[in-house]
Amino acid sequence: NIKITSKEYVEYIELVTKKIEENKDYITKLDSITGDGDHWVNINMGFQKLVENKELLLSLKLGDMFKKIGMLIMSTVGGSSGVLYGSAFISAAKTIGDKEEMDINLLCDVLEAELNAIMERGNAKPNFKTMIDSMYPAVNALKDALDKKLDDYDALQAMKQGAIDGMNSTKDMEAVRGRACYQPNKGVGHLDPGAVTMCYQLEVLVDYLCK
Ligand code: ADP
Ligand code: MG
Ligand code: MG
Repeated sequence: NIKITSKEYVEYIELVTKKIEENKDYITKLDSITGDGDHWVNINMGFQKLVENKELLLSLKLGDMFKKIGMLIMSTVGGSSGVLYGSAFISAAKTIGDKEEMDINLLCDVLEAELNAIMERGNAKPNFKTMIDSMYPAVNALKDALDKKLDDYDALQAMKQGAIDGMNSTKDMEAVRGRACYQPNKGVGHLDPGAVTMCYQLEVLVDYLCK
């Protein structure tokens, strides 16, 4: 069974940062086509900042660490994603409270809190061609799997598949939020860059926890 303390979460952050670093050209290209081209710079800057603050994050209890992550991201990352991810982590911190570690059920609650914070803050729903389209099906797949009493491994794999399918579903969507809605074709025919980087985060989390 999985267990996430600050130590595991920081290890995961380092892996996501690597994954984001490696996909600079791809993410930049997607945001150049559908938006203003800066999504990779924004998200990469945020994760680099977290890695720079690794020792500080490791010294904090899980909930305080999530709050700090939210504050670091808010103050570092420009664009929509800074505010959205910042709110997500701060909301997750409230769900964690004083707990020192997460099991799969708390992880599910934390991801749901993040998702709800993003939807509220961005005034957005599924099918608007945003990062929500990776996260919503992922969280729902995890919830379903836990309801069906699947073990941690299978539940996490279901979540990962939900994220991947959700990310891919943004290709044919017309944007309702984000800069893609100002494009003449509303971004149709291209994945949403924010959905791709959200999918990376969920995929890397699953791979890390299932390794
Ligand atoms: P900006 O669009 O301000 O340049 P980024 O390029 O960093 O910011 O992030 C763009 C991504 O943010 C989009 O691809 C989309 O996934 C997500 N996004 C934009 N607006 C919203 C919103 N209102 N709700 C949820 N996600 C959003
Ligand atoms: Mg952008
Ligand atoms: Mg921008």
